[in-house]
Amino acid sequence: MHETVEPLINDEYTGGPPTKRVLARLQEKRKEGRKVAGVYCGYAPTELILAMGISPATLCAFSNGTIEAAETVLPANLCPLIKSSYGFIITDTCPFYGLADAVIGETTCDGKKKMFELITDLKPTWIMDLPQVPDQEEAITHWTAMIRKLQGFLETTFGARATDDGIEDSIRDINRRNAMMREVFEFAALRPAIVDWREMYDLTFLAQGSSGKDMEPVLSEALKKLAKRRDDGYSYGPAGAPRVMVTGCPVGGDAEKVFAIIEEAGGVIVALDACSGFKPYMTDTAEGTGDPVRALAERYLKIPCSCMTPNARRLTEMTRLIEKFRPDAVIDVVLQACHSFNIESHKVGEHVEKVHGLPFLKIVTDFSLGDVEQIRTRVEALLESC
Ligand code: SF4
Ligand code: SF4
Repeated sequence: MHETVEPLINDEYTGGPPTKRVLARLQEKRKEGRKVAGVYCGYAPTELILAMGISPATLCAFSNGTIEAAETVLPANLCPLIKSSYGFIITDTCPFYGLADAVIGETTCDGKKKMFELITDLKPTWIMDLPQVPDQEEAITHWTAMIRKLQGFLETTFGARATDDGIEDSIRDINRRNAMMREVFEFAALRPAIVDWREMYDLTFLAQGSSGKDMEPVLSEALKKLAKRRDDGYSYGPAGAPRVMVTGCPVGGDAEKVFAIIEEAGGVIVALDACSGFKPYMTDTAEGTGDPVRALAERYLKIPCSCMTPNARRLTEMTRLIEKFRPDAVIDVVLQACHSFNIESHKVGEHVEKVHGLPFLKIVTDFSLGDVEQIRTRVEALLESC
């Protein structure tokens, strides 16, 4: 980032990893007597968990360092995200898992589903059965029932309660948070962009599991600073640099190598189309429907994850992002052995190239550094073609 520009998140942890700030917030909540629920996936209904007075904590999943330990139990040819998650647990190195009183999982991909079976005895664990043909009426009915069952689990485990009015309030609060996040993303849509991918990434990480009330001061400050940058004529990245949208599997920690390579190759990342990026903030839950749990079910089933079939919504959402952020190229990051994102990449590539006329690159990678130079060569070639 430009050296003289004021950082967007300006507090005691400026310059440090946002994990520190999230951890501090959770520790504070715990001191106040709140329970913590560890979550792994975008399908965990944050609004319900918060409405029950419980703090959701995203569990660690992005380090290469825990994979060796995981491979003593799990197969080597498994998605690194699953191996890393499991490795963090068996080496007792994820501070969020350490704080968690319970874990909430969902039946998304086979690897995660089976990994959950290995950790289920360690802490109270609830697995939500996620329907995977999302547009059918039965799917919505089923997912509504699953959210109610999660509510029952949290009631039994923690004695926590939430009324429908309380859930409705939480929906409004999270919708407000999401709207503010989208306001931040609007600044990346400017040409030239005035926000760094790290800043957007840090904000998306901070906002995960946070209420709108908790995020409001951080986001208001960030928005003010962004408006100032725009008014001062600040631009991020080299003039005329190709704009890149990154889509695909969640990316964080050691997988951020891909973002760094794009930047080193002269690109500016303007859109992060993954659960670790913009995805959780792009849609809202309907308010005032009279059935807030069904409204949550409808909204969450619209998450365009590759575990869904068909997943046409992912292409529709990509079009929306491409039109807004106007990238010059799209890079699809697929984690090794993630079959659903890997197979879906074919349709994504066709969509990007044929419908939008943009160059497209699929990168299959893991959390190690072994393929950095190979990725660099391919990214440089892609950006030269822009
Ligand atoms: S990509 Fe799919 S499985 Fe992974 S976190 Fe997002 S919604 Fe969950
Ligand atoms: S990246 Fe793919 S294989 Fe890995 S946890 Fe997510 S959906 Fe499963």
